[in-house]
Amino acid sequence: MARRTRVDPHLGTVVHIVADRQGRPNLPIDGCPFCVGGLEAPEPYEVRAFKNRWPALEGGACEVVLYSPDHESTLATLPVEHIGRIIDLWCERTVALRGLPGGEHVVVFENRGAEIGATITHPHGQIYAFDHVPDRPGRMLRASWAPEPDPGDRLVTTISGWRAWCDAVPVFPVSVRLAPIERVPDLPALGPAAQTGLARALSGIFGALEQLFGEPLPYMMWVNQSPRTSSQWPDAWMNIEIVSPWRAPRLPRHIAGVEVATGEYFVPVDPADIAARLRALIG
Ligand SMILES: [Zn+2]
Repeated sequence: MARRTRVDPHLGTVVHIVADRQGRPNLPIDGCPFCVGGLEAPEPYEVRAFKNRWPALEGGACEVVLYSPDHESTLATLPVEHIGRIIDLWCERTVALRGLPGGEHVVVFENRGAEIGATITHPHGQIYAFDHVPDRPGRMLRASWAPEPDPGDRLVTTISGWRAWCDAVPVFPVSVRLAPIERVPDLPALGPAAQTGLARALSGIFGALEQLFGEPLPYMMWVNQSPRTSSQWPDAWMNIEIVSPWRAPRLPRHIAGVEVATGEYFVPVDPADIAARLRALIG
């Protein structure tokens, strides 16, 4: 089946028709492919990136990032030093993918939990390189996105040069934003101190998120960062979004018809309440 990228002529919505991905396995047949000795990890590793066998993009690139050889580990349980190695790999792959012809905009992301559609539980994320700047990051860049100077009662934590808060305008019940207090455009521009700070911040936030509802939280995480043509975006300020559909344990809030119809959302929790609970858990 031909793969096509289509743009709605009225709304500008971009849809990648990837029907041939239906052939990919939902669950591996012969054990975990990401454990050492598995299909995608034949040799011992600490962290590892490789090309996705089932790429979703035509004019770009798709990679998988293995966080750890330990099948049971998570960003909530991995040591801070190890999270630093994952961030190292994010930086290295951002640079490498930008070196490809289709590497204009690199998105580092993670889907975790069956509800989010993660088919393999082994701790891993993904990286897509787009040959253009997609609409949402483009809008953030054109609006010169910057951290809220004072999130007030939505502040979650300030740690090692990074600030985390619950978004004032959340589309999902849990919507945590993490950004460096001093502007950094993208992952490769992080100095050693900022990188260590990010590892500490991620460790603290995921530790708290894991306890928020008393059981592992399904979530999506992604990094917003400058495109390759960074000179065109002098205000670019990297940030990380972590969102979950859960509003209570095992109770997802589904995006409803009226929300899809209008592009306006109804969120059944106050982000200040989520922030207060996360603050208490981070301690
Ligand atoms: Zn595994």
